[in-house]
Amino acid sequence: MKKYDYILVGSGLYSGVIAYMATKAGKTCLVLEKRNHIGGNVYCESIEGINVHKYGAHIFHTSNKEVWNFVNSLVEFNRYTNSPVANYKGEMYNLPFNMNTFSKMWGISTPAEAKEIIDRQKASITGEPKNLEEQAISLVGQDIYEKLIKGYTEKQWGRDCKELPSFIIKRLPVRYTYDNNYFNDLYQGIPIGGYNVLIDKLFEGVEIKTNVDFLEDKEHWMSLGEQVIYTGAIDAYYDYCYGKLEYRTVRFETEVLDEQNHQGVAVVNYTDRETPYTRIIEHKHFEYGTQEKTVISKEYSTDWEEGMEPYYPVNDEKNQALYEKYATKAKDENIIFGGRLGEYKYYDMDKVIESAMNMWKQLENK
Ligand code: UDP
Repeated sequence: MKKYDYILVGSGLYSGVIAYMATKAGKTCLVLEKRNHIGGNVYCESIEGINVHKYGAHIFHTSNKEVWNFVNSLVEFNRYTNSPVANYKGEMYNLPFNMNTFSKMWGISTPAEAKEIIDRQKASITGEPKNLEEQAISLVGQDIYEKLIKGYTEKQWGRDCKELPSFIIKRLPVRYTYDNNYFNDLYQGIPIGGYNVLIDKLFEGVEIKTNVDFLEDKEHWMSLGEQVIYTGAIDAYYDYCYGKLEYRTVRFETEVLDEQNHQGVAVVNYTDRETPYTRIIEHKHFEYGTQEKTVISKEYSTDWEEGMEPYYPVNDEKNQALYEKYATKAKDENIIFGGRLGEYKYYDMDKVIESAMNMWKQLENK
């Protein structure tokens, strides 16, 4: 008999869900976290009384009722609805692409007029779109592609739109209605009091060691538990034996400003190529903050190198094939890889929770 039923490496949402379910089922867990705090990338730091999304903005949205009920059983959510605005050289456009965007772009007012323009502009694309550029033009036409997609996407991914997979842009809705809600999901909001409340609930009563790098003493930690669940990067776990998976990372420049309301909305995307950052987040607007000061973060997107935080997996063919090699190796071993990094997937939070819930159902029946 080993000391713990589960060794959980990392303390983000995936690990949190397993820890919560396992604890409820009377199992013992040890959580190992390399940072000096738990919560993974949803962790918030309080600055001037404002919850600052330290590792990038997180907006919870889902259509999965089981997931929504689960998170609501732990924390209440506010009515935040994401309605970011794009700033293209000083011109402001509503996102996602909808009638407000089309009206501003072309001075038109009806869906029929917008459709007519888009149909004309996308005529150049025939057949199945081969890359992000073709996919974008066939969804919204040339003008919107040039002003609102091309620059932003190339900054975010550091690659030409012709070299990016089309599915990235399919995340974004296109609507012929005056609806600025970024997401199509049924449920949406930000935990009241911030994400740390949710995280603390998930890990309540669980033994946690922070400032511990599991990989530095892998054998020791593995010997302590019946089952290891690893939520870090799968290639790092295997010491990059088949090569490195690519990630994009974000550098945040966070400033406290001596004004109450800097940009009037939580998210402004800078969609031109020249502005070096991709977007500015004004954190207080996620929670309708009325503090005297405000905190903003400029996001600069760059390629990941060892020692940086890997944020976005680059799910192109090359990386996907490499990931499959690691996943195949993992199949023969008594270890579970989960979450955005463990599964090398561009997951939203609800999908991570869903994936962890499904994993728990399997573990529970073992
Ligand atoms: N995108 C864009 N212009 C925008 C916002 C998004 O072209 O103003 C594209 C870009 O390619 C991005 C993708 O849509 O990578 C998905 O955006 P999303 O907001 O889902 O990215 P995330 O929130 O995960 O950073």
